[in-house]
Amino acid sequence: MVLARAVRDAGELCRLLRLPPEVAAAARQAARDFPLLVPHPWLARIVPGDPHDPLLLQVLPRAEELADVPHFQRDPLGEAVSGGTSGLLWKYPGRLLIVAAETCAVHCRYCFRRHFPFAHLADDDGPWEAALRLAAAEASIEEIILSGGDPLTLPDARLSSLTKRLAAIPHLRRLRIHSRLPIMIPQRVTGELLDWLRGSRLTPILVVQVNHPAEIDAAVAAALGRLVDAGVPVLAQAVLLRGVNDDLETLARLFGRLVDLRVMPYYLHQLDRVAGAAHFEVAPQRGRELIEQLRGRLPGYAVPRYVCETPGRSSKTLLA
Ligand SMILES: *Cc1c(COP(=O)(O)O)cnc(C)c1O
Ligand code: SF4
Repeated sequence: MVLARAVRDAGELCRLLRLPPEVAAAARQAARDFPLLVPHPWLARIVPGDPHDPLLLQVLPRAEELADVPHFQRDPLGEAVSGGTSGLLWKYPGRLLIVAAETCAVHCRYCFRRHFPFAHLADDDGPWEAALRLAAAEASIEEIILSGGDPLTLPDARLSSLTKRLAAIPHLRRLRIHSRLPIMIPQRVTGELLDWLRGSRLTPILVVQVNHPAEIDAAVAAALGRLVDAGVPVLAQAVLLRGVNDDLETLARLFGRLVDLRVMPYYLHQLDRVAGAAHFEVAPQRGRELIEQLRGRLPGYAVPRYVCETPGRSSKTLLA
């Protein structure tokens, strides 16, 4: 499997990308809390020898991660309090989010769940059984959101059997999947996956995370095309990241390319203030400026909503 062969060693990453050994030494130190994980299809899109490559920066542990910066916390969204450790988050009316998988196809260095106590999830089926009980008992829940970790790291057979049980709850209408896998490992978009998404009574909606236009090579474009051709609405969300996509050209190319591929830009997220990610933060004022400039460049439907997550609120907060 592609994921089983993923690069987990900083020395190997630096050898493959022809980066100096100092980079590997710093990465090894910085990866202590949150290990390095990069699958090969992603590696192939990184320009060798360029320490500032925007795809490399998303996955390379750097010394800055160890800095203790005020206001950057281990659990920035208070998920431990709002029930996240049970694998269920029911914060927004009508939508129940399940932390459906503990693993990802990549470790994004800015991830707000980088310190998430996944190991505390009772067992594999714990969150699912609790979600099935809660969804059945609460008629106001219309949509199930599979998040994680990355839910598409689960085998198709398991996704399909669990979704059958969800589909048996009469008031549920939609199944949303938040995943980075179609971008990281486009081979994951198999015929079985499409059959599963197409085959349920629930309306499927796939939200992929993609931050930079260089992430979309021919294989990714083809995978997104297979999903849309199968009738699955595909939305895109990005995180605004310093040094990766915090400039007008990059964002305009990213969102323009996505709409060409029939993938609709949904959210641009302000970074959650998670410990270890302070060096990725872009000031909201700069983010607003960028959105304003994008409005002058792209069709209205190609400009995402710029949002942040505020603990305790029942929806995301619109910044622009
Ligand atoms: C972001 C989020 C959702 C989905 O919100 P939308 O605005 O519908 O995309 C649902 N539940 C939780 C806990 C979330 O963080
Ligand atoms: S894929 Fe998502 S959950 Fe996994 S590390 Fe990246 S941002 Fe975090």
